[in-house]
Amino acid sequence: MPLPIVAIIGRPNVGKSTLVNRFAGSQEAIVHDEAGITRDRTYQPAFWRDRNFLVVDTGGLVFDDDTEFLPLIREQAMAALAESKAAIFVVDGQSGPTPADEEIAQWLRLQSVPVLLAVNKCESIEAGVIQAAQFWELNLGEPYPVSGIHGSGTGELLDKLVEYLPLPEEIEEAPELKIAIVGRPNVGKSTLLNTLTGESRAIVSPISGTTRDSIDMVVERNGKTYRLIDTAGIRRKKNVEYGAEFFGINRAFKAIRRCDVVLIVVDVLDGITEQDQKLADRIIDEGRAAVIVANKWDAIEKDSYTIYDYEKKIKDRFYFLDWAEIIFISAKTGQRTEKILDLVDNAAEQHQRRVPTAVINEVLQEAVSWQSPPTSRQGKQGRIYYGTQVTTQPPTIALFVNDPKRFNESYRRYIQSQFRRQLGFSGTPLRLIWRGKKEREVERTVNRATRV
Ligand code: GDP
Ligand code: GDP
Repeated sequence: MPLPIVAIIGRPNVGKSTLVNRFAGSQEAIVHDEAGITRDRTYQPAFWRDRNFLVVDTGGLVFDDDTEFLPLIREQAMAALAESKAAIFVVDGQSGPTPADEEIAQWLRLQSVPVLLAVNKCESIEAGVIQAAQFWELNLGEPYPVSGIHGSGTGELLDKLVEYLPLPEEIEEAPELKIAIVGRPNVGKSTLLNTLTGESRAIVSPISGTTRDSIDMVVERNGKTYRLIDTAGIRRKKNVEYGAEFFGINRAFKAIRRCDVVLIVVDVLDGITEQDQKLADRIIDEGRAAVIVANKWDAIEKDSYTIYDYEKKIKDRFYFLDWAEIIFISAKTGQRTEKILDLVDNAAEQHQRRVPTAVINEVLQEAVSWQSPPTSRQGKQGRIYYGTQVTTQPPTIALFVNDPKRFNESYRRYIQSQFRRQLGFSGTPLRLIWRGKKEREVERTVNRATRV
């Protein structure tokens, strides 16, 4: 069973974010006096006694409003509840029960999830008991007086909460794949993110300042967990503090460093630019697996050759990423987007793949018999004694040779291409390390050109 989720529900401004921060022991969620400011569903890890769980702030449940985003926020709250083991319904002890509270309570009573009623803003112990007592009328069981700001009463609430949570031994955390979605502004990253996470999980809309810092989103599919890295960064450009042209390349670099597989999103209308190439360079330098996502395919007029033309164009510009699969999608219409995670799975598998030494040496022998290593002007020939895969992520093969200097670029590229041809490794970079006979330490003589 994965980590259980606890949904925090309640109308705006009752102190949900403050409570989430207290449970999670961090200041990550945003606290703001403006109603409904926490618009994204963000999962924060928390624990009480021996139980681990994730708290999700639903962003304010509002039933009776018609502004543009409120239906979405409500939908999110509902979706959050559907996947939760328990809910904490937060109300404001200082203002007493309101019609909105009654409405939410009515809805919650119809749900099958256990609900705990937290009466927040009860700093004063004596007054708190009386303030809390007013909420018996919501018919949701015992109201717990708490103060998100001071922390009082939260222990009793959490003691009750953990009764609904699975035991530590019941939780097995599936290994998760970390995915970075990178690309230039306007290639469709947020739209894609939205499609991947399911319509209700992320909001792509021109609101500024709703998300701060690095937030990851988690997607589950076929029992596998995918962590989409720094989804806040993907929507970052919407913030007023940057112009629309702000690229955020350092942020993308950081995401590439943290991930297993990079989705490099390009816009088929614009083609591959220098900025795309910078990202691709970084993918190679960090040795990450990658999938090239060619977006906005819906906007292209096509005949039966179009896809090959485009594929060739992209491959030509991204020749050093020629090992990466290209998928043509429309983030907007959802065309083929469900295949992206299949390609991610494959790339990750190849990234972690280990090939037996015997197989590597077979490939080497074969390669050397077709084309012998170069001979220097002095008549000294390069010799490859043997090769072995020394590490994964990315797969790295050490070649033990008489003298690395005898192997020129073109021969190194030849050996590299033979490994590709015989062993595949599609979706991942493949590194070769040429080691001299005498030098025992790892010699990184490989330069970028041979690492393709
Ligand atoms: P949310 O909209 O439900 O997430 O509410 P917030 O956590 O953003 O809090 C709304 C307001 O209530 C902020 O001004 C908080 O400082 C205040 N607040 C939150 N918790 C408490 C509390 O325990 N006591 C008091 N007095 N105020 C609180
Ligand atoms: P980001 O800056 O990379 O996050 O890009 P956005 O997701 O904000 O998208 C930028 C623009 O491209 C928006 O106007 C989207 O509606 C549009 N867009 C995104 N994906 C597609 C697509 O698959 N097809 C078309 N035609 N437009 C798209």
